[in-house]
Amino acid sequence: MIDIGINLTNKRFDKDLKQVIENAKLAGVNKLIVTGTSLDESQQALELCLQYPDMLYCTAGIHPHDAKTFNKNSLDVLRQLATSKPVKAIGECGLDFNRNFSTPSEQEFAFVQQLELAVQLQLPVFMHERDANSRFIELLKPYIQQLPNAVLHCFTGSKSDLESCLALDLHIGITGWICDERRGTALLELVKIIPKDRLMIETDSPYLLPRSMRPKPKSSRNEPKYLPYIAQTIAHARGESLKQLVQQTEQNSKLFFNI
Ligand SMILES: [Zn+2]
Repeated sequence: MIDIGINLTNKRFDKDLKQVIENAKLAGVNKLIVTGTSLDESQQALELCLQYPDMLYCTAGIHPHDAKTFNKNSLDVLRQLATSKPVKAIGECGLDFNRNFSTPSEQEFAFVQQLELAVQLQLPVFMHERDANSRFIELLKPYIQQLPNAVLHCFTGSKSDLESCLALDLHIGITGWICDERRGTALLELVKIIPKDRLMIETDSPYLLPRSMRPKPKSSRNEPKYLPYIAQTIAHARGESLKQLVQQTEQNSKLFFNI
């Protein structure tokens, strides 16, 4: 199983990182794509990947929350990081108008710059979008034909959001959000309309611990070892066997990230 979105450089993993990686492996999650969310975190993600070749890969990018830090130099740093073998995508990049930790115009600038970089380098993009679907689609559209691949990770939007993403042939990343009895019920329905060759799975840990797990884990920290639980929930919602879903999403992820 491949977890396509995991924030392993988050400080909540500092103390027992080795064990977290080991437990993922024991749970059958044998490849992780570590998310780079800023220049520093992308650098740290890369260094971590170098310690676990053939298991860890990463992205290099600047999250919309951090878009205010984006400057001319950022592109050079990202370009340099992307020359390393474990770096398999540009991102996490995109738009988050839910919290606006950076202004919308800062976010849009950083997003477009990273799309252009991905086109130049012919790398896939790993994207984030919250409460910004129409603008997100608008900015992405001119680049989509030139990008080798593009995923919207942690999809949590509406049916029309999903349809506009699928119209651009995006891959869709589904997290344990789907296990949330308060917010995830719509996603249980929507996940059925994602074509099987466009679906990928992720934990987005340490965030988004699947809420329906029983017994409830003692810690609120999500971990890659819980990916099978998320996969099971998605498989059930789609009327597929766990084995089918795991094989298909693994194949999708390998093709997408070229691993
Ligand atoms: Zn995200």
